[in-house]
Amino acid sequence: MARGDGEAAGHHGGAGSGGAVLVLNAGSSSVKYRLIAAGTGRNGPQHLVRGQIERIGEPDGEAGDHAEAVGQVVEQLRDRPVTAVAHRVVHGGDRFREPVQIDDATLIAIEELARWAPLHNPAAAAGIRAARTALPQLPQLALFDTAFHATLPPAAFTYAIDRELAQQHGIRRYGFHGISIQYVVGETARLLQRPATQLNMIVLHLGNGASATAVADGASVDTSMGLTPLEGLVMGTRTGDIDPAVAFYLARAAGLNLDEVERQCQKHGGLAGLCGDNDLRAVQSRAVQGDPQAQLALDVYCHRIRKYIGAYHAVLGRLDAVVFTAGVGENSPVVRAGSLTGLQPLGITVDHALNDTRGSTARLISPIGSPVAVCVVPTDEERAIAQQTAAKLGLAGNW
Ligand code: AMP
Repeated sequence: MARGDGEAAGHHGGAGSGGAVLVLNAGSSSVKYRLIAAGTGRNGPQHLVRGQIERIGEPDGEAGDHAEAVGQVVEQLRDRPVTAVAHRVVHGGDRFREPVQIDDATLIAIEELARWAPLHNPAAAAGIRAARTALPQLPQLALFDTAFHATLPPAAFTYAIDRELAQQHGIRRYGFHGISIQYVVGETARLLQRPATQLNMIVLHLGNGASATAVADGASVDTSMGLTPLEGLVMGTRTGDIDPAVAFYLARAAGLNLDEVERQCQKHGGLAGLCGDNDLRAVQSRAVQGDPQAQLALDVYCHRIRKYIGAYHAVLGRLDAVVFTAGVGENSPVVRAGSLTGLQPLGITVDHALNDTRGSTARLISPIGSPVAVCVVPTDEERAIAQQTAAKLGLAGNW
């Protein structure tokens, strides 16, 4: 059963003049969906329906497979006017640099790109197939997490491995979280009342997955995730950066096969590997109670972020803003303060009273007049997808 909420929010339930976009975000075992209608006049977009179908394919799951899940969503929205369907796709390789309208060739390409996103791209492809079957009359678009990073220069996206091998297999840094980061760059520009194209910033997307991105004049110029979303920052269950020789050593010395080594890096690393908890809330509360493993996990997590801030400050030269977003970035004053400790020489300081104040809107947490603005900017992937879809299709209204 789809678990969705119609949102009253004091608005009427129909689509505005620009229509309504159904956003489908298919993960490995879930489908998140949201129906967003254009706002009119001074009103912003209306989030008409949102929900999530979970544990897809599991014995007690809400759907047997992704096709069935999408079928449930379509059934739930049967009486709603929908103008277009937009699908989030994790890996677009170097082929997809902007939102595309989906045809058979696009779908095949998305499935081929599953070699680098084996959990995510097949789920997205299954969702696309099901939505095209159920809603054949509607335009269907794909939006890619990698696309915002299409501006990375060769020096940043090239790995120092054998050139021919890299070319043959498409091995390079692609970067992820792009839909979120692009949205956050726009919202930060709005907060600072300056054009995004004139801002240099470091965006720290800290959720279950975590990444740091250097943005110069509004464009991505370096990012911590690589060929896959495993590289870079410490995450809930992913190691982030690690000496590749650790994998060779584990294979030889501990007798792990390749799949077991990968599982260690993807599922048993990160905060979970360090202290047994992958949710930062649990790690924080254990650390406060004096648990040394949890404290070390927190220290490693923040140290890695601080290191990337220093590196990307050097990449950018001039830095206007450091921006925190996603579950941890938006909600953890401890991580924000811990990651920025000792960065005063770079012009980066935090006002602790502002940092400790909870909020749900974009806000500054650096002292007034600081050389670098430190910002907390809530992300909204589904809204970002609707905005980009509306722009691509030329839909009227406020998105
Ligand atoms: P996301 O992937 O953006 O949904 O982020 C999920 C992660 O955000 C969770 O695993 C938590 O670790 C973290 N998180 C959510 N709320 C809080 C909070 N109030 N304090 C610290 N961490 C939080």
